[in-house]
Order: sequence, then structure tokens, then C-alpha cells
Amino acid sequence: MSLAFPSLRGAAPPRSVYVHVPFCRHRCGYCAFSVARASSPPVDAWLEAVRLDLDGWFEAAGWTEPAELDTIYVGGGTPSLLGGAGMERLAGVLAERFRWDPGSVEWTAEANPTSLDPEVAESWRALGVNRISLGVQSLDDAVLDWLGREHDAAGARRAVERCRDAGFERLNVDLLFGLPAEVRRSWRREVSEARELGAEHLSLYGLTAEPRTPLGRRVELGRTVMPEDDRYAREYLEAADLLSGAGYEHYEVSSFARSGHECRHNWCYWDGAPYLGLGPSAHSFLPPYRIWNVFRWDAYRRAVTRMAATEAVPTGTGGGAASLREGWEEIRGARARLERVWLGLRTRRGLLPGDLVRESSSAPEDPVARWMQADWIREVEGADGRRIRLTPAGWLRMDELVARLAG
Ligand code: SF4
Repeated sequence: MSLAFPSLRGAAPPRSVYVHVPFCRHRCGYCAFSVARASSPPVDAWLEAVRLDLDGWFEAAGWTEPAELDTIYVGGGTPSLLGGAGMERLAGVLAERFRWDPGSVEWTAEANPTSLDPEVAESWRALGVNRISLGVQSLDDAVLDWLGREHDAAGARRAVERCRDAGFERLNVDLLFGLPAEVRRSWRREVSEARELGAEHLSLYGLTAEPRTPLGRRVELGRTVMPEDDRYAREYLEAADLLSGAGYEHYEVSSFARSGHECRHNWCYWDGAPYLGLGPSAHSFLPPYRIWNVFRWDAYRRAVTRMAATEAVPTGTGGGAASLREGWEEIRGARARLERVWLGLRTRRGLLPGDLVRESSSAPEDPVARWMQADWIREVEGADGRRIRLTPAGWLRMDELVARLAG
């Protein structure tokens, strides 16, 4: 792609920011995120790079006043490796450009059970972090071992207790399903145990064998076989059933929340609201442009330093910024419509029936009618009238439906 960056002048300042911490003590065999291995991360260099990245956005968009934030999300990688001091310094970097009300901001930080010690949890809470997302993934030691995680099930439970002891009232627990058949697990028991952890929010992710990961290579060589569709579907539907029965609302394809505990930051993505992403691989959305940073930490660090040295910001034809902002796309017309359908269908909010009117009608049948018959889509009464919403069985087929609707 040519990197003649569009002008961002006049873009509305975002009310949400994502910061990527690209460090982990070791790399899990299935991980395709932007992660560098580091037992003690280069926090100084990372913070300086994030500060320059943030300055670049403000200069490119011509924002001169601090922007008000509703949500902050620090993800990774392993943000808990920042410790209390690193998170405090990150807050200082963000405060150079943003303002937030500690009483109303949603400030999430991801943590791994092994590096979230009591001091980290307490210092984060004192700083204003008010939501922790714990990378639990499984509550079975053999499964955690197969995944290459550093913690065991007891460690995951201790991490939940530490969060509560530190005063966190909003916890998310991530769980992985759809593992190969060679991994023996009782998924039903694990979901029940996860439910008993008492987290306000659970996120379920299906394992994928990404290319260029150890898992991807094993699958390519035929040494590991990913599960059949029916196992994947069975586990997803079983978890949806167990969690809904326990009072969690299944409000997005992967997300379950107790009343009042939905993730506001993620809603900003699903609503198509503007957000900034800082750090390697982070995506930003300044409508109508989605722009993403270079993927790897070392390339990001070099690019950000070069951008600062040449004082080139991504307002024109690239310069030093071109290698930092790796790519961009314009979300308009048919693309914008496709995104609206996809984002609407992935949440409980669903779509207005009019949103589904096809622009091209080359398909021989109406997929929506067929999906309603199969109970993959339902009509519900919303505050603004009739809406259509996917059922859990429909969410399993969401990509197929969106592809059909996109023509
Ligand atoms: S902890 Fe998460 S980000 Fe880090 S290597 Fe494992 S899967 Fe990747």
C-alpha cells in the first residue's frame, strides 16, 4: 500500500485509548500477538516510544487541547510486567495529552496470574485502574501446561483473590475453548469453576492455529489436529448455556457480563466510535480512517525514534511517520455498510431490519428468512423498534451470514 497518509486535520479527538504493552516473559505456543520476550521489559524505552507515538497523533490531527477520556485499556502482551511504577509512569505520559475523571473513567489493565502480585494489584488500584482482565485461559493444570502458560489453576484462583483483596470490583476472566482433541479436558467442569470465581465478566475465545506460531507449524505438519467444527460449536454453546443460566448476559459473541459490567471500552469498538491505539500493532480509528502501527516492538521503537528525529508526522506523504503507521484504510460506502452489519450482528444490540437491505440482490434466496427458520436469528423489540439479533447458534455462523449479506 502506498503510504500517502490522509490528512487527519479536523478529526474528532477520541474518548478511548488503547495502549499495547508488547512484552511477555515467554511466548505461548499459540500466540500471534505483537510480543517480545523479556523477563524485565525495557520500560523506559517503551514509555518514551509511547509518548512520541501519542505526540505524533496530536500533531497530525492538530489537537491542541487535552482530550477527555471515557475509557483506557492497557493490553498486551503482559501489562502486569510493568509493575506499579511502570503503570504510574504510563499514566503520567497519558496525562500529558488526556484528562479523565477518576470517578467515571473505565480503566482496564490486562494481567497474567504470575506477575500480578499483591503490590502490583494494590498500586494499580490506588492509581485508578478499576477493571482487571485476567488471562486465565483454563482451570486445568494439564491444559495450561499444553498451552504453555506459566501459571497453574491454583495460581489463577490466587490472582482473583489478590484482585479482590486490592479492592477491584470489576474482573474479567479470559477462557480458551476449541482445543485439539489430544487435549483432554472437561470443558463443562472448567466453565462451572470459572463461574464460581465470581468474575463480573467472562470472555470466551476459540483457539486458532495461526501461521508462524509453533501451534500453526504443528498443525501444518499434521502433528496436531484442530477440533472438528462440532466440538468447537458444542463447547461454545455449552458455555453460553451455563453462563446465561448463571445470570450472565451474553451481550457479544465472546463476552458475558453481570448486569452493569459490560466492557465500555469494547463497546466503543463495536459502536464505531473514534479511538487511539498506542504501541506496536495498535490500531486507531479516526473516522473514516483506520490506521495501524508497525507490528514488531523493535521496528516500532526504531520508527518512532526516526519520526521524532525527522519531525515528520503522518499528515502528508509519510516521511519518518510512514514506517510507524504501517497501513491505513478508509471506511466508507460499501465497506462502512459491511462493518456496520458485522459490528451490529456481533452484539446483543443487533440491527434494524432496514440495515439488512441488500444493495445487490444477486443471491437466489433471502438468507435472513432461512436463518430465522433455523433460529440463528431472532426478532426482538428494542427501544427504537424491531431489531434482529443473532442467537448463540447464529454467532457461530456470523462470518457466513455477513458474507452473504455483503453480497
Ligand atoms: S501471555 Fe498472552 S500475549 Fe503473552 S505470549 Fe502468552 S498468549 Fe501471547
